[in-house]
Amino acid sequence: MTVQESSVLATLPVLGETALQTYPTATLYVVATPIGNVTDITLRSLHVLTLVDAIACEDTRNTAHLLQRFGIHKPLVAAHMHNEREAAEVLVRRLQAGERIALVSDAGTPGVSDPGAKIVDAVIAAGLRVVPLPGASAAITALSASGLVNDQFHFVGFLPAKGKQRETVLNGLRGVTATLVFYEAPHRIVDCAQALATAFEPTRQVVFARELTKLFEEIHRCPLAEAAAWLQADAHREKGEYVVLLEGAPEAADAGDAEAERILNILLAECSVKQAASLAAQITGRKKNALYERALALKGA
Ligand code: SAM
Repeated sequence: MTVQESSVLATLPVLGETALQTYPTATLYVVATPIGNVTDITLRSLHVLTLVDAIACEDTRNTAHLLQRFGIHKPLVAAHMHNEREAAEVLVRRLQAGERIALVSDAGTPGVSDPGAKIVDAVIAAGLRVVPLPGASAAITALSASGLVNDQFHFVGFLPAKGKQRETVLNGLRGVTATLVFYEAPHRIVDCAQALATAFEPTRQVVFARELTKLFEEIHRCPLAEAAAWLQADAHREKGEYVVLLEGAPEAADAGDAEAERILNILLAECSVKQAASLAAQITGRKKNALYERALALKGA
């Protein structure tokens, strides 16, 4: 049974719209799949998966299982981190012969801490078309429920497993003002929390987003100083999949602040608060919103 034939989906008037778009041949379709709840797949993704000639996937067993849930039967091609370059060559040849091919990973968005980027790169290099089909990604899902989003986030993905290398990476992130986004394996989550607490200010807020979209989903926010104790308080918390979000560094009150303020004062004599903030942001490379607030305060004073 395909999605068009499924009794529930077939009743959705909007379903017809998935077919209105054209899906060219000789094209790689990069398809996001659910990160837990199987019904998080999009209608358009299902449509494309039913349309393509083959599906390149990280693990053929996982993808076969997902497709079976939707009654989709397609030839599968293994494309994982150990054969990505060779798989890319095969896929490019098939695309050049006019096929439509979908690329999926085990869960979430291909190429984001997952195989896929080398295949996409090879397809682009061969002058062929790549069409993305958006859907779940653990990082974005966690961010959306964290309340920690300022105007920027910095995706780190998996940290090195070895302590020394992890420490070096974390120290390099100390000054980043954007919210930091990490992926972490459950058996390393306590180590990770301890390493974060050593590298960053203990007052920073941290969010543990565990088992997103699944039965035992849990989203916990606390100061970094309390993180390891919270994780160790319940044995279940050392199981499951995690996204860890860490509040960014406070905007530094440094010599650059004084310079930004000097520039703002000059500009405010000639232009509006908005223009002054915008020009000062271009001159100093600092955030426009922060400069706007500062300019308002200076104007008021
Ligand atoms: N490409 C995927 C994406 O876009 O979300 C990520 C793949 S990466 C190999 C797997 C990692 O993503 C897990 O170790 C975990 O850190 C995070 N992750 C995936 N699914 C998750 C979920 N349901 N809840 C929390 N984290 C998840």
